[in-house]
Amino acid sequence: MFNAILIEKDETRYRAHLTQLNESLLPEGDVTVKISYSSLNYKDGLAIRGKGPVVRQFPMIPGIDLAGTVIESQSEQYQLGQQVLLNGWGVGEKHWGGLAQIARLNSQWLIPLPSKFTAKDTMAIGTAGYTAMLAVTALEKNGVTPAKGKVLVTGANGGVGSFAIAILSKLGYEVVASTGRIEESQYLKTLGASEIIDRTELSQAGKPLQKERWAAAIDSVGSQTLANVCASTIYGGTVAACGLAQGMDFPSSVAPFILRGVTLAGIDSVMCPYSDRVAAWDRLANIIAQPLLEKISHEITLEQVIPTAEKLMTGKIRGRIIVDVNR
Ligand code: NDP
Repeated sequence: MFNAILIEKDETRYRAHLTQLNESLLPEGDVTVKISYSSLNYKDGLAIRGKGPVVRQFPMIPGIDLAGTVIESQSEQYQLGQQVLLNGWGVGEKHWGGLAQIARLNSQWLIPLPSKFTAKDTMAIGTAGYTAMLAVTALEKNGVTPAKGKVLVTGANGGVGSFAIAILSKLGYEVVASTGRIEESQYLKTLGASEIIDRTELSQAGKPLQKERWAAAIDSVGSQTLANVCASTIYGGTVAACGLAQGMDFPSSVAPFILRGVTLAGIDSVMCPYSDRVAAWDRLANIIAQPLLEKISHEITLEQVIPTAEKLMTGKIRGRIIVDVNR
């Protein structure tokens, strides 16, 4: 038997609860992992709260991130006792995920745990930090350098936002942080933001082209915010779009793209190819130091996952949540 968060749905109700499951119920896969830590991402919050079509099959164990030790393997790539990491691939959406003590998985979804990190470190970073790294890499591929000007990060206090600020600042960029929680300005400055703006500046309908304010942006908010972010990006700049915390819509015009040559770079962490994931984690290992992880993350137990998901969805969580699934 193992402990897990289970989401069940029938005609009348949608319910997430902590329960015990028999290992015989685990889905198919060529590797079984004893999970040490998982994490709580925005998408897990949506899944647990039943908001948005995240869970595609029921019953489902949520959890898009996990790190742990291989305890059974039919794969030549992974041996018993090896430490592994997983982010995405539909795990926690259509295949049982990381908010449990055991997972059975497809070995092709795993990567070896980066040697610089512990399992807990990788869950402090999680999909959010790995996505921030993919977004920074996308800006660089489009020619964004610190000399080009400021970089805006929206959803600054969130997981993606916190890591985007920290990574950009480490790489020498001047970072503007947009937040609904101005009272957290000190935290954002310790991560490396040099300027803080109130997110209401960006969240209402605005003109198709606005004053040029930043050379690039990493946006985890979407909707009207993303439209305003693009409209305020300098000639030839790049905006990496990775989230929808304000909404899935994009009420923009083509003006920033055809009149200012702005590039909109889409970021997807879920189906991102193996080589790009490993490259992102290698870069994270070089950039991220232990004190930063302590600043950005805090730990909860499996039992605390459901109430914490509620807080995450109402914007009351700062940074990242690590889940110790064995406590
Ligand atoms: P968090 O919940 O940790 O952070 C989201 C942040 O967005 C909040 O902290 C808040 O920051 C801001 N925010 C929340 N609600 C609103 C709103 N209504 N309007 C404007 N800003 C808002 O989530 P994550 O950082 O884990 O994820 C952020 C987004 O990125 C999510 O939409 C998630 O689904 C997406 N994502 C996408 C990935 C991909 O592969 N493309 C991978 C990972 C995440 P503040 O209080 O500072 O304003």
